[in-house]
Amino acid sequence: MVVFAYDEECENLLDFFDLCLDFIDAGRKEKGVLAHCFAGQSRSASMVIAYLMRMEKLSGKEALASLRQCAQARPNPGFLKQLDLFERMNFKVDRSSPIYKHFRLKDLGYLYSTDKKFHRLKLRADPETVSNESSGSTYHCKKCKRILLFQEQVIDHTPGEADSEFDDMFKNMIGEVRNKNPGDPNQCTSMFVEPIEWMNTMEDYVSEGKLLCPKCSAKVGSFDWSGSYCSCGSKIVPAFQLQMSRVDVITVKDCVKKKKNNKHDKRRV
Ligand SMILES: [Zn+2]
Ligand SMILES: [Zn+2]
Repeated sequence: MVVFAYDEECENLLDFFDLCLDFIDAGRKEKGVLAHCFAGQSRSASMVIAYLMRMEKLSGKEALASLRQCAQARPNPGFLKQLDLFERMNFKVDRSSPIYKHFRLKDLGYLYSTDKKFHRLKLRADPETVSNESSGSTYHCKKCKRILLFQEQVIDHTPGEADSEFDDMFKNMIGEVRNKNPGDPNQCTSMFVEPIEWMNTMEDYVSEGKLLCPKCSAKVGSFDWSGSYCSCGSKIVPAFQLQMSRVDVITVKDCVKKKKNNKHDKRRV
């Protein structure tokens, strides 16, 4: 198996973890596996560290120390960061975890910053085309009620705080991350979400604009690859921002209530 990845801090190795770790697992059950890259110190070492972490439930530091007993391992700082995320996600790449979503958003922002080409970025599926129902709340266009996103696609932010966690890993991204807008930390009038397939009206080289409902074309929010502010003062980079006043939220509780009411109605009939 071959994985194409540069030994650079900004390289996304995390998305290959499942594939590589399963491959190592399967290979070890037969004869054994040779994990290698050019120097055998950063890329392949990171994969072996991730494997040790998952197998033996070790922290990144412990797994690195263990590998250093038999090999020269020196993962670059970006890979160390991703091993830390892997540990925080309990040794799996959980794509619904806030940790992963935050990383993925930054990675997309970084990829866009390199060539301003939007069309080559892989976006989350449109909830309208996904058959399995979400376990959490769903968000709909206020005007035409078309579903826009699932709860899993919301990117949480801490009111008033800057999202500077990945500054070191993704350098030279467009968008200043530091908060400058004091805002009101008690109030968020917008929500930040992952870019979703229905947003594909965004064009290459266009770095900001409106987000329109794909059914009725009502404005539901805006996007800005260099980031934008929430009313609470947090700046999120890049920003795919929906205005709370333009979407309806249907919570799971409401659905359960509705179903119960329906049952009740039927009985009465
Ligand atoms: Zn609509
Ligand atoms: Zn906010």
